[in-house]
Amino acid sequence: MTEVVTRFAPSPTGRLHLGHAHSALQGWTAARRAGGRFLLRIEDIDATRCRPEFTAAILEDLAWLGLDWDGPVRIQSTHFDDYRAALDRLDAMGLLYPCFCTRGDIRAEIARAGAAPHGPEGPVYPGTCRHLAAAERARRIAAGEPWALRLDMAAASGRAGPLAWHDRARGTIAARPEDLGDVVLARKDTPASYHLAVTVDDAVQGVTLVTRGEDLLEATHVHRLLQALLGLPVPDWHHHGLLMDASGRRYAKRDRALTLAALRAAGRSPAEVRAMAG
Ligand code: GLU
Repeated sequence: MTEVVTRFAPSPTGRLHLGHAHSALQGWTAARRAGGRFLLRIEDIDATRCRPEFTAAILEDLAWLGLDWDGPVRIQSTHFDDYRAALDRLDAMGLLYPCFCTRGDIRAEIARAGAAPHGPEGPVYPGTCRHLAAAERARRIAAGEPWALRLDMAAASGRAGPLAWHDRARGTIAARPEDLGDVVLARKDTPASYHLAVTVDDAVQGVTLVTRGEDLLEATHVHRLLQALLGLPVPDWHHHGLLMDASGRRYAKRDRALTLAALRAAGRSPAEVRAMAG
């Protein structure tokens, strides 16, 4: 049997709240029950939103809660070389193209077309930059226009062929990465994206069970495709339900009173907070 290696991968954009504790507990419990490993990864590639003091606070809050992790913490912002190498491989397969569009350009193009297919993450990119002539691309790059790198989804999924993945709570699911369109793999301001970094890192860290909230379920279709293209091992997934507050909303950063720090300051014990989050 494969060893259970799972992870908790928060982004340091604020203090951890009860929803995060719920997610971390799911992974930690799955690993400890199976005698496996529980890893911690800090997803801080977005320098505009992430702050080092929140990384420190995450480590402190988890330790206070009694959720210990195995091995060194992987800090994504120190691994851009790994993401670059993956991009180079996809680029060598002819599956990437530079996209110069701003959000406004994309909105305008969708309005002009009258309708756009809607994916789980919003309107699907209309493909404006997919077939720009090479000379036009070179001209815009030389002119200093910022660009992102997008995956040519039709070419990529055609190359990979039909794929499936397995979720512990849902069974086997046919991959539908096309629903998300030509996703961004490197952002204008960051030479990687969530989809790319998470897929590379789960492989580098030897993760065999991806534990995360069901709000990220749709992203898995893209991650499964990237694994196939990059020849990476395929883990199992567990997309757990989200913890809701009393009014049925999911916990978010706005719920200041329910950060672990606030609960701790209010005198709650780690065991009490684990019970609230469990
Ligand atoms: N960093 C992501 C978040 O905080 C989670 C990524 C994942 O678990 O795959 O929402």
